[in-house]
Amino acid sequence: MALLFHSTNGQSPAINLREALLAGQAPDRGLYFPEKFPQLTPAEIAAFAALPYHEIAFRVLSKFTDGIIPADVLATMCREAYTFRVPLEKIHGNVHLMRLDQGPTASFKDFAAQMMSRMFGRFLAEDGKQLTILTATSGDTGAAVAHAFHKIPGIRVIVLFPIAEVSVSQRKLMTTLKDNVRTVAIDGKFDDCQAMVKRAFADPALAHIALSSANSINIGRLLPQSVYYFYAASRLAKNGEPIVFSIPSGNFGDMMGAVVAREMGLPVKKIIASVNENDAFPKFLATGVYEKISPSRNSLSNAMNVGHPSNLARLVAVYGGQMDETGKISRQPDLAKMRRDIFSTSISDARTVAGVRDFWNRFQLLLEPHGSVAWQGFQDWLATEPLGDAPAVIVETANPAKFPEEVEKVVGWPPDVPENMLVALRLPEDFDRMDADYETFKNYLLAKHS
Ligand SMILES: *Cc1c(COP(=O)(O)O)cnc(C)c1O
Repeated sequence: MALLFHSTNGQSPAINLREALLAGQAPDRGLYFPEKFPQLTPAEIAAFAALPYHEIAFRVLSKFTDGIIPADVLATMCREAYTFRVPLEKIHGNVHLMRLDQGPTASFKDFAAQMMSRMFGRFLAEDGKQLTILTATSGDTGAAVAHAFHKIPGIRVIVLFPIAEVSVSQRKLMTTLKDNVRTVAIDGKFDDCQAMVKRAFADPALAHIALSSANSINIGRLLPQSVYYFYAASRLAKNGEPIVFSIPSGNFGDMMGAVVAREMGLPVKKIIASVNENDAFPKFLATGVYEKISPSRNSLSNAMNVGHPSNLARLVAVYGGQMDETGKISRQPDLAKMRRDIFSTSISDARTVAGVRDFWNRFQLLLEPHGSVAWQGFQDWLATEPLGDAPAVIVETANPAKFPEEVEKVVGWPPDVPENMLVALRLPEDFDRMDADYETFKNYLLAKHS
């Protein structure tokens, strides 16, 4: 029997991974989540120490795809998706920087997108169906998704992004692809883009179009993001010591990857959810009162300008509570347990800049703003609890070359640009533009599918 996924809102029937992946959001507007987490034994986890990344990915993901994707097919997908390096750079002592920025679009979003596109491609080919992936991006998702799904038969991609909130290189990584990929610049915020996408999914007037999402509301985004936590532990916690992760968080999909890893059996000492000035979660963790930030606050770590992180519904569910898509809590999670497992802190832009500078001055290692938020969040946590002998991992989610101005201002020179980004920067751009108006967007979608 394949593992079942249920909706965090509890009003939609449980379905298998294949159905949950293709659906994106549940009909009751909740998010799909495994009914129970498959377990990895300590021996299975210990064996990861000798395995390459793609093999660890296979062993973790096969626990979810059993009965849905044949093992040899999944193994091939993992080998083809994870061809890039996952550097663990020593900062000091047992503290390391995990760079998740070596994929085709130089952000951690590649890890999920590369696997998801392969799964989608296979499911659609089996069904002989067509699908439109509709996704809102605050910068990096759009690029990762567009690259991963580019030229996959049966799939059309439409990406919405807030025109003023993405950097030039983030933008060019999505607007220079063509073929089955369309990008739409919205005169509004990321939250507007996300709201438009969410409304389209629920709109009966669009019901005849097969839509799916590649946002972190899709469970297919989450599961591959648990793998690099296993990988880091396999290299740094060889005797199964509980490990600390500091994760720069916006929509909390990356952070939920660490929660999934822990629920599957990975020994974790603390998960640090480091946020920018969008501090709804650290406030909730401290007070038990959840108030989304609306509109979301602009900050240097622009991929984390999220006023209401949708994955909190899943996090609350792991701790026995229930939160709906609007952020309303109908059952409180076990906050005491949540506080034992998770630390959360908000980092100002001033501290983000200082973090990039200090990190360079002290360790000659380059961070960009998101990684800096994780570094500063780690410092805040250290002030509350000793690290002891535990290994710790600061997660760097983007390549510094995606934020050349910010980095140059601090260290005095522009970061090296990886080859794949150089190519995109040279190609001509092509995108549509519209106001943050749902009716306009709806007509656009109808016209594209007529
Ligand atoms: C998307 C993104 C984040 C935030 O990840 P979430 O899963 O939304 O919390 C952090 N850093 C970068 C560079 C990103 O692109």
